[in-house]
Amino acid sequence: MATHRRRGVDRFHKRHIKRETFRDCGRRCVYCGSALGLEAATLDHVFPLAKGGDNAPGNLVAACQGCNQLKGSMLPTEFFLRYPWAGWNFMRYARAVHRQLKRGARRAVSLAYAKAA
Ligand SMILES: [Zn+2]
Repeated sequence: MATHRRRGVDRFHKRHIKRETFRDCGRRCVYCGSALGLEAATLDHVFPLAKGGDNAPGNLVAACQGCNQLKGSMLPTEFFLRYPWAGWNFMRYARAVHRQLKRGARRAVSLAYAKAA
């Protein structure tokens, strides 16, 4: 069973993180690349919390609600394999994420394209 570590992150802190992440992502959804307003943006854990991801800024991106729902609790590699366009945008817009996440995205995208070819 997944254990969620809930640290007492207060509302202010949360909003602060969201704003920073939003800015780092170029005020866009990193998956579909559409421009977002701060209110419409959601925070997505690239590597889902339920699967062992953390709350570090390197694991957080801004996403629109549609993409966030589409991704659900998929691992980033699963998600990018299934939707390579999302991986493509992710590499382009998610500038502040962990390097290993970007590497994983690049691998998944090229694998997806190799399969499609
Ligand atoms: Zn999106």
